[in-house]
Amino acid sequence: MSALKPIQIIGGGLAGLTLGLALRRQEIPVTVLEAGCYPRHRVCGEFISGRGQGTLARLGCRQLMDDAGAVGARTVAFHSATKSSATHILPSPAICVSRFSLDAVLAKYFRELGGELCEGRRATAEDIGEGCVRATGRRAGAEENGARWFGLKIHARHVALQADLEMHFSSRGYVGLCNVGGGQVNVCGLFRKRPDENGDARDRLELLRGEPGSPLQRRLAGAEFDGDSFCAVAGLSLQPRQAAARAEICAGDAITMIPPVTGNGMSMAFESAELAVAPLAAWSRGEVTWDAARQKIARDCDALFARRLAWAQWLQRLVLMPVLQNPLLALAARGDWLCRLAFSQTR
Ligand SMILES: Cc1cc2nc3c(=O)[nH]c(=O)nc-3n(C[C@H](O)[C@H](O)[C@H](O)COP(=O)(O)OP(=O)(O)OC[C@H]3O[C@@H](n4cnc5c(N)ncnc54)[C@H](O)[C@@H]3O)c2cc1C
Repeated sequence: MSALKPIQIIGGGLAGLTLGLALRRQEIPVTVLEAGCYPRHRVCGEFISGRGQGTLARLGCRQLMDDAGAVGARTVAFHSATKSSATHILPSPAICVSRFSLDAVLAKYFRELGGELCEGRRATAEDIGEGCVRATGRRAGAEENGARWFGLKIHARHVALQADLEMHFSSRGYVGLCNVGGGQVNVCGLFRKRPDENGDARDRLELLRGEPGSPLQRRLAGAEFDGDSFCAVAGLSLQPRQAAARAEICAGDAITMIPPVTGNGMSMAFESAELAVAPLAAWSRGEVTWDAARQKIARDCDALFARRLAWAQWLQRLVLMPVLQNPLLALAARGDWLCRLAFSQTR
């Protein structure tokens, strides 16, 4: 049997590492180049829902979630700046896990499987070519429909949640709260940048604490924030993109980013990694060309993600309209159908 061709993955986040370890299970030589080092905090709601859990199980990574300290989530509650919903049962159970732990556990496991992981190594355009997969995460976009988006995350202690996941909507964006184990609550938000706003980190932490008198501010009143976990990301591009439009083989947010309100981005990272495994393995064995593998992966990703990306755009627009936030809460109070519909169509 001829030697397997090696694969290089740029980006050691969720998509890059899960793809890397699935390829290592087939004995394919894999190198991952990662610009950062582990462990590290990421801006992420740390709430995994939808098909991602099944994907992880098929990729042999479900146990790693437990190793990373994942906890189950079964209930959700919604809040505007003035009103709160009842607690709803999630249409299907989710898990919450700190990215600080999860990415480090995946990196460790990838190395144990014989993968080569180069930390602190930022790839450049020269590194990209045949045999190289882009899993570099979100692509920066300056402004979309007149809005600039940024995300913030911090962990906090001493926060008693009404539900396993709480979503708080305001005129600026939204903040999600979920228990990520070890007494820590993830506080993560997506916000519109104002034209006059500077980038002062302390002002930004105030955004996560919620507007005065809001349910979010009351919930976090006694919180003890872990300053080391605070992180921010700007220039988020939330317009759906097609994998077929990319010249390279991509996985995860490098294809497209789904609005975070869905809590489905991590799942899409795992799912796109899974879709890439067979075509990449076939290329490694010399059975298909790189371009044929690229086209197959792109077609499969676009077919799998198109509906949820379209619904997520609408959902994001609706929940960000302050005038609609209380009517949506009132609708949600009339039963679980709205929650179920949004949930089923965005994953
Ligand atoms: C505010 C916010 C809240 C979110 N909440 C949730 C949530 O609750 N649930 C959910 O499922 N998803 C959520 N997401 C989305 C989720 O975080 C992403 O979809 C997920 O991290 C994508 O994984 P990835 O591997 O594609 O990218 P990443 O996890 O971003 O990993 C990409 C990696 O590539 C590395 N890299 C980049 N460029 C280079 C380079 N040139 N060379 C080498 N390395 C490079 C980076 O350092 C990084 O480690 C949220 C996102 C935001 C912004």
